[in-house]
Amino acid sequence: MFEKILIANRGEIACRVIKTARKMGIKTVAIYSDADRQALHVQMADEAIHIGPSPANQSYIVIERLMEAIRQSGAEAVHPGYGFLSENARFAEALSAEGVAFIGPPVGAIEKMGDKITSKKIAQEAGVTTVPGYMGLIEDAEDAVKISNQVGYPVMIKASAGGGGKGMRIAWNDTEAREGFESSKNEAANSFGDDRIFIEKFITQPRHIEIQVLFDSHGNGIYLGERECSIQRRNQKVIEEAPSPFLDAATRKAMGEQSVALAKAVGYASAGTVEFIVDGDRNFYFLEMNTRLQVEHPVTELITGVDLVEQMIRVANGEALTITQDDVKLDGWAIESRLYAEDPYRGFLPSIGRLSRYNPPEEVATETHVVRNDTGVYDGGEISMFYDPMIAKLCTWAPTRAVAIEGMRVALDRFEVEGIGHNLPFLSAVMDHEKFTSGNMTTAFIEEEFPEGFQGVTLPGATLKRIAAAAAAMYRVAEIRRTRVSGRMDNHERKVGSDWVVSLQGEDFAVRIEADHDGSTIAFDNGSTLRVSSDWTPGDSLATLMVADAELVLKVDKITSGFRLRCRGADLAVLVRTPRQAELAGYMLEKVAPDTSRLLLCPMPGLIVKVAVEVGDEVQEGQALCTVEAMKMENILRAEKKSVVSKINAAAGDNLSVDDVIMEFE
Ligand code: ADP
Ligand code: ADP
Ligand code: MG
Repeated sequence: MFEKILIANRGEIACRVIKTARKMGIKTVAIYSDADRQALHVQMADEAIHIGPSPANQSYIVIERLMEAIRQSGAEAVHPGYGFLSENARFAEALSAEGVAFIGPPVGAIEKMGDKITSKKIAQEAGVTTVPGYMGLIEDAEDAVKISNQVGYPVMIKASAGGGGKGMRIAWNDTEAREGFESSKNEAANSFGDDRIFIEKFITQPRHIEIQVLFDSHGNGIYLGERECSIQRRNQKVIEEAPSPFLDAATRKAMGEQSVALAKAVGYASAGTVEFIVDGDRNFYFLEMNTRLQVEHPVTELITGVDLVEQMIRVANGEALTITQDDVKLDGWAIESRLYAEDPYRGFLPSIGRLSRYNPPEEVATETHVVRNDTGVYDGGEISMFYDPMIAKLCTWAPTRAVAIEGMRVALDRFEVEGIGHNLPFLSAVMDHEKFTSGNMTTAFIEEEFPEGFQGVTLPGATLKRIAAAAAAMYRVAEIRRTRVSGRMDNHERKVGSDWVVSLQGEDFAVRIEADHDGSTIAFDNGSTLRVSSDWTPGDSLATLMVADAELVLKVDKITSGFRLRCRGADLAVLVRTPRQAELAGYMLEKVAPDTSRLLLCPMPGLIVKVAVEVGDEVQEGQALCTVEAMKMENILRAEKKSVVSKINAAAGDNLSVDDVIMEFE
């Protein structure tokens, strides 16, 4: 076995690889850029080597820098993680030229599968069903329109070198085909340095289901079931699970066998993933093969018990697989939520900054319940603009899907992240969404269920009542503490009254609190009661309470006359007042938010690529106004309604911050 391996990556995946290497008794070498001097993967590895400035194209993806680090460290093998150089054939070649093992597939397989056009052709030849479309290259926008008409709308315009959901546009008509071709091409040129575009049929209402394969270099290969990754925004995955709630045994076997056939056809070795889209009738179509460890691999590990990183290392060491197809048993259900530094209230746009608090739920592994959190950050650490804005991958496992989902709800409630925008509330909302819990989702889920974007969660009445009871009990404790601190030591409990009105989400609950040694009983004015107990004390940011017979976990911040409470995706200002205060408050005027409807605000920190209108132009609803690039993605901002442009404050090349006014309307 190797004595020392270098991990050519950063963040959670570098940490994840280090964990398995350590378990196997292999020493690890981390690499880091300027921005990552203090990063977790650097702290975890046995050695760490600085490889350059923060931008990845001056550090993590510069092959020569990597080669120097490998020579310097004496590492015998390299794990590339995902992204960066993981699917770069020249890197694999450079390693083999120096006799260093690549913990990934052979160069030929990377080359053949790295290109979407080539891989589709190979898949067809190997008897794999592919998405119908045009396999040639598209010359220009007019050509794109012509071919889109031949394929038949809707179409998907794609970059052959694409990945990570980039360089991809749906078009429903000629205008969109023209526009989509231009932006895909630009995005592909910027992100991949390769602007070749092809067009295929856009399959409506599909599910994304992918097969994990594992091959050794002696010709043995197996598939380890599937993962369903239909919950996506911008064609990027957010929540994945294994198995898929949609597949039957026959479809699973057919997809598995086609995937194995494809991997064989390219002489595959190592772990890989064959991605499909599946329509409502369980017809499946090959999308692409990812010749690396996939972000969402943990859900497969949780239901199969196979450590995929360990298998990759053994295969790279020349060992034969010891697992046969018959050994692969899918046990229970696993869900993964990708926690991203992105603002769900602003179209999931990336957010960066310091994690003023990072406190994940405790990891658990019992016979019936698993919580696994793969991360590369820590409390006080920084999410920089240079890399993928993923904070953590939170996974739960349980014997059934329903219990795994419930485990995820609780784990998300317990996950504290402060200081930056993040998608925790959105993840919670999905876990409570009927379409998700019933397993009845497609890749259009987010677009269809959150058409205006995510606006927060409205909790059902029964949950509100439980939170109201908890808030009343907590407020009483805080009031007792407050009166005590203010010096009125004697009989302080008597000064805190027992009648309160709890207001949250537009509802008022009048309650009476009876406290005793083990907790409080909260009586509502309709006669019902809820028993509340907890060891929460004022100042704790997380409250774990028993309310009636079930646990309730709340994120708590003190506000005037109450708390800000966050739970199950809801962000509530909860006021706890005496009946008299509540009555008086009824006469107060509500604050009115400033009117910004006549302004186009920049929705994210980004670079203005193009302003498409001029002062005086009359614009129609949906018309493109300007293009902003952020995190290498081009985003077209469109008119919300018909209006006339009265002022333009930005030009191509300007760097704007969130909420900067790009233009104004009459
Ligand atoms: P796939 O299923 O095609 O692997 P993933 O979501 O796993 O899709 O990500 C694909 C690759 O793109 C990964 O290597 C990941 O590092 C990268 N990636 C994903 N999201 C982003 C992003 N927002 N910015 C930059 N790179 C990303
Ligand atoms: P990437 O390399 O960026 O992962 P993929 O080809 O795997 O690109 O596509 C990413 C996602 O885009 C898929 O999971 C799917 O949701 C959607 N998608 C891609 N091609 C099609 C298509 N032809 N029809 C419908 N959806 C598609
Ligand atoms: Mg993909």
